Amino acid sequence: MRKILTPDAVDKTADAVVIGGGIIGVATAFWLSRAGLSTIVLEMRDGLSTLTTTASIESFRAQFTEPAMAALARESIEVWENFAEVTGLDGYEIDLHHGGYMFCTTEAEKVPLIKETVDEYHALGVTDSEFLTGEEVIKRYPWISPEIKAAAFRAKDGWFSAHEVTQGFARAAENAKFYLRTRATGIEKDEKGVSAVVTDRGTIQTRVVVNAAGPFAVTVAGWAGVDLPVFQMRRQRVFVAPHSKIPRDAPLTIDLETESYWRPETGGALLGWHDPDEPETEPLEDPRGDWDFPAVNLEMVSRLSPFWNEVIEDLTKDDLSVYAGQYVHAPDDQPIIGPVEAAPGFHLNCAYWPGVMLSAASGRWTADLITGKMKNQDNPLRLTRFAEGVSTVRGALLRGRH
Ligand SMILES: Cc1cc2nc3c(=O)[nH]c(=O)nc-3n(C[C@H](O)[C@H](O)[C@H](O)COP(=O)(O)OP(=O)(O)OC[C@H]3O[C@@H](n4cnc5c(N)ncnc54)[C@H](O)[C@@H]3O)c2cc1C
Repeated sequence: MRKILTPDAVDKTADAVVIGGGIIGVATAFWLSRAGLSTIVLEMRDGLSTLTTTASIESFRAQFTEPAMAALARESIEVWENFAEVTGLDGYEIDLHHGGYMFCTTEAEKVPLIKETVDEYHALGVTDSEFLTGEEVIKRYPWISPEIKAAAFRAKDGWFSAHEVTQGFARAAENAKFYLRTRATGIEKDEKGVSAVVTDRGTIQTRVVVNAAGPFAVTVAGWAGVDLPVFQMRRQRVFVAPHSKIPRDAPLTIDLETESYWRPETGGALLGWHDPDEPETEPLEDPRGDWDFPAVNLEMVSRLSPFWNEVIEDLTKDDLSVYAGQYVHAPDDQPIIGPVEAAPGFHLNCAYWPGVMLSAASGRWTADLITGKMKNQDNPLRLTRFAEGVSTVRGALLRGRH
C-alpha cells in the first residue's frame, strides 16, 4: 500500500489527524502509528519536510541548560544513534556525523559563564560536555582565531539528514498515511471536543488532532479556539560549495558574540546567523532568503574562523545558495507539547526553533500524552506552564533570538 500519496479524496475517519508533514508531524505520526492509532498526516505542500525542516542545518546537541529540552535532546539522540533498530528499518542510514558542537567566546568576561554552563550540562547528565580554554581549542582546531578565550564542546554532538529521518519515520509508520497537497482548512468541534478536520479534499472525522503545523501552528490553533503565545521569525542559512581551505573535521562552530555559526558539509559548509534586526512576521508559505545574506554571514563567521577570508576570495555567486525558514518562539523559547484542556482532543507539538534535533522524543511525548501513557502534569512543556508560572528561562548560551 502506498502511504505517501496525493489522494483524490481523504479517508472519512481516522483515530488521529496530524496537521503538518514536517519532521515534527511525521515523527509524531510514527509514534502514534506504533501505539496502534490509525493516523493521517496532512501536508499542503508537494513533499514531506519541505518548509522549515528543509532550511535547517540539521545539527543536534545534548548541550541544553533547560531540563525539558535536555531530556528531549537526550532521548532523541538515542534514536538518531539507533535509528534502524528503533524504526525496524533494517540497515537504514540517516547520514549521522558525530562532528561535535562548540560554543565559543572571544570575551574574557564570558569565560565564567561558559564554565558555569558546562557545569549545568553535567548536572543534567551531559557529563561528556567539556570546558575548553582558548589554548585547548586552538590545539584541537588550529584554524580558530587566537582571540578565542573559551568554549563549551561536546565531541558526540553532530548532524544528520533530516530528509532521511523524515522518510524513515514515514516508511516505518505502518498505521499512518501521509497526504500531500492536502490542506487542512478548519477544525470541527462538538460537545465532546474536536470531531473532525476539514481539508480541501474532504472532511475526516476524528477525536484526536495534532497541531504540528510549524510556522502555521498559530493559525491552526485559532481554528480550535486556542490563542497560542508564539511568534515567527525568519532565519536564513547559506550553503558554500566545496573548497580546499574548509576544514572537513571541524565541529559546528558557534560564535557567541555574533550568534553566527558554521559546520562542514561534503567538502563545503553550511552557515547561519541570528540577525538581531530580523523582525517578527506572519507565518510564511514561501520564506525567501536575501541576496546579501551570504556576504554578511561569511563576514560574521570569519571573525572566529579567519580561514573564511581566504575562501571568500575565491567564491563566486554560483558557489553560494541561501535558504530561509522560520523559527517559532514561545515566551520561554521552548516547544509547546500536549493536550489543550479547552479543546478536548486537540494536541500541540509546535513552537520550535531547534525542532529537527528534538523531533524523535517530542513525537513520542505527544503520542504518550494522547494514549495516556504520560500524564500532562508530568509534562513540563504543557501549554498551561505560562499561566501556572512554572516555565523557566535559564541562562542558555543560545536561544535562537536576541
Ligand atoms: C536557518 C535555519 C537553521 C536551522 N537549523 C537547525 C538545526 O541545526 N537543528 C535543529 O534542530 N533545528 C534547526 N532549525 C529549526 C528546524 O528547522 C525547525 O524547528 C523544524 O524544522 C520544525 O519542524 P516542523 O515540522 O515543526 O515545521 P515544518 O518543517 O515547517 O513543518 C510544518 C509543515 O506543516 C505544513 N502545514 C502548515 N499548515 C498546514 C495546513 N493548514 N495544512 C496542511 N499542511 C500544513 C507546512 O507546509 C509544513 O510542511 C533551523 C531552522 C532554520 C530556519
